[in-house]
Amino acid sequence: MEALCLSLVGSDRGFRDGGGKMAASRDQLGAVEEKGGSGRQGSSGVEVVFPSDPATSAPLCPHGPTLLFVKVNQGKEETRRFYACSACRDRKDCNFFQWEDEKLSGARLAAREAHNQRCQPPLSRSQCVERYLKFIELPLSQRKFCQRCQQLVLPDDGEKHREHQIVGDVSITQLKRPSQLLCPLENKKTNAQYLFADRSCLFLVDLLSTLGFRRVLCVGTPRLHELIRLKASGDEKSNIKSLLLDIDFRYSQFYMEDSFCHYNMFNHHFFDGKAALEVCRTFLQEDKGEGVIMVTDPPFGGLVEPLAVTFKKLIAMWKEGQSQENNRKELPIFWIFPYFFESRICQFFPSFCMLDYQVDYDNHALYKHGKTGRKQSPVRIFTNIPPNKIILPIEEGYRFCSLCQRYVSRENQHCEHCNSCTSKDGRKWNHCFLCKKCVKPSWIHCDVCNHCALPDHSCEGPKDGCFICGELDHKRSTCPNISTSKKADKAVRKQKQRKSNKMKMETTKGQSMNHISVTRRKKRRERAHQYLCS
Ligand code: SAH
Ligand code: ZN
Ligand code: ZN
Ligand code: ZN
Ligand code: ZN
Repeated sequence: MEALCLSLVGSDRGFRDGGGKMAASRDQLGAVEEKGGSGRQGSSGVEVVFPSDPATSAPLCPHGPTLLFVKVNQGKEETRRFYACSACRDRKDCNFFQWEDEKLSGARLAAREAHNQRCQPPLSRSQCVERYLKFIELPLSQRKFCQRCQQLVLPDDGEKHREHQIVGDVSITQLKRPSQLLCPLENKKTNAQYLFADRSCLFLVDLLSTLGFRRVLCVGTPRLHELIRLKASGDEKSNIKSLLLDIDFRYSQFYMEDSFCHYNMFNHHFFDGKAALEVCRTFLQEDKGEGVIMVTDPPFGGLVEPLAVTFKKLIAMWKEGQSQENNRKELPIFWIFPYFFESRICQFFPSFCMLDYQVDYDNHALYKHGKTGRKQSPVRIFTNIPPNKIILPIEEGYRFCSLCQRYVSRENQHCEHCNSCTSKDGRKWNHCFLCKKCVKPSWIHCDVCNHCALPDHSCEGPKDGCFICGELDHKRSTCPNISTSKKADKAVRKQKQRKSNKMKMETTKGQSMNHISVTRRKKRRERAHQYLCS
């Protein structure tokens, strides 16, 4: 079971982002979108802390260094902080928990170490590559893919997959599009694997090539990675190279070491150690760092700050390879994320601006480009490339605003009072003279609150707002933050439970030892199976 989580986590946890804005999962987007901008002071949830003294290194879970969290109640931080997994929102996927001030016995540390080891994928990176090389040598009729195990099958894999669903005659074209062969890991709480619709993916590839990039560091963008490579192999002119960093280990079956690294973007952890880190470094620093861009599409439930910390580390890695005179240059970045994270992202990257382009996804009902007029996707591109260089497709209604010097959505109108095209969500926004800014068309100015909000909002103080997060516009039962507090409570409860279980175990150790080793062995076998048979 544990091994499974390694390749399958993708994490869109419902933690509260430290900036006070709810960190939404992709499925909560609708709810968060319509929220007013009120009631921050009473915020509750779990926030990540970056200790001022980084010398105290965080304990490790199977997903690398853990992060330090603090529970916040009505805006107040609880004093006792704890370490938890950086990548998994659901404790079912990684149940790591440790109080910051907790001292662990040598035995428990050893057990943890062993557990972390057991959770690593059964095949090493080079074994995967070896298998891939064997696979492409096979005649078409012998090239099989097991859907149950999500694995390429070799003739000497024997009977293992006999009763599984098998795809036969796997063509080279199919091998080049693993994101279509693999099933997307979209279970809401953990994986959140949402693949670009072709329209958006093609737009991105064309844009990257128009902008003259020769290398793309794809962080959590497997479909973009494969499309870049597909185009490069079919077209001499656009010979763009791509390196994919992703936590989904299944992709290691399809790429050599120099085009995929098993990576956790919430703690900048390379699962295959120094060799993989060097692959990334070399890629960023090639040509003195010229012609490279980073494109990332993280799980939306993820916290912005750990992501920003990671991206700054990647930027630093790129910078090391720069010559002195290029000192002020920035690593070009596309960060794909919902528009309502704009202020949060710009807080960490002041040079970024948000483009109006709406990014669409294949396997997300909400953001699919439908036949009957689509729901508008809230997902945008944040970038440090000057927006006037980025041409958005006219045929989709985007047009150039010469005053703003950027392409904007069809209905985004230039407001003469704000002196900008103010719409964030693609609808026409209205200027409110009392708020001195443009607001969503569904909002009206409230004299009680002294700002604009939804007409049916409640004007009373936080006491009457949500019991969990203190926001004014919903009740406890519909709180998008509910899973957060639950997780923290559960973490504490589980911790207590483990302690009492451990005490019980110790009293019955003699009799149960044998039983334990049998179930362990069985579990290990199950794990190996689970890992392969996701
Ligand atoms: N739209 C992109 C996919 C984005 S979905 C595309 O089509 O290419 C989010 C991606 O981030 C998934 O591929 C998922 O496996 C990856 N991911 C999730 N959590 C991660 C983590 N902690 N570290 C690295 N990658 C992660
Ligand atoms: Zn973990
Ligand atoms: Zn305005
Ligand atoms: Zn107003
Ligand atoms: Zn709430």
